[in-house]
Amino acid sequence: MPRYKTYSRSTITVSGLEIQVHRKNVKNLNLRVYPSKKEVKVSVPKRAPDSLIYNFLASRILWIKKHLNRTSTKPEAPTPTFKTGDAVQVWGDTLKLDIIFKEQAPKVFLKDDGTMTLQIRPGTSRIKREQIINEWLRAQMKEEIPKLIAKWEPEMGVKVNEFGVKRMKTRWGTCNIRDKRIWLNLELAKRRPEFMEYVVVHEMVHLLERLHNDRFYAYMTLFYPKWPSLRKELKGDHPLQDC
Ligand SMILES: [Zn+2]
Repeated sequence: MPRYKTYSRSTITVSGLEIQVHRKNVKNLNLRVYPSKKEVKVSVPKRAPDSLIYNFLASRILWIKKHLNRTSTKPEAPTPTFKTGDAVQVWGDTLKLDIIFKEQAPKVFLKDDGTMTLQIRPGTSRIKREQIINEWLRAQMKEEIPKLIAKWEPEMGVKVNEFGVKRMKTRWGTCNIRDKRIWLNLELAKRRPEFMEYVVVHEMVHLLERLHNDRFYAYMTLFYPKWPSLRKELKGDHPLQDC
């Protein structure tokens, strides 16, 4: 018997480290490390035996501990204040925020010198400023996504019925295969445009292949050969999964 304790169906202790176990409708074991929260989670197929989960985690325990510690020494990104001089990311560019106050409906506009001007009413809170910018980013995405869908539909021989943009904590995008509807993470508006195209192609490939299997990745390579480097970069700086 391996020496480990299972406190409940949802926690397993491996080499002194408590790891959250989420039993889900998944085919593979999926490991995620959250250095900022000092958390490790693994999602596993519903009927996976504890010994399998234990062995999986034990074989990766050095890697897990390294990642928990290495990244935790990195300073966390400061919470943006949304004041003049703040940096804002738009399509991979860093713009300087300039706040101007006017008793009018708020608006955002970009200048050629790399400034994003946010026009707001005096007294507008930080949260509200962020919301206004997020809505502007969402509008940028909603303008670009139909162009990408129109470009890729004939290439791939699929049809997207509907798309949407929302804030998602764990995914860059999702695809509802039955309704042929894709959702994209609002964060993509901050990244270089090729990342959004990569995620759009990924979600559209799901209309050809539901699972992340060899067939799926063969399609990815056929349609978007540079996907592995983009995927690596997306995973490297954000603990999000591609789908
Ligand atoms: Zn996917």
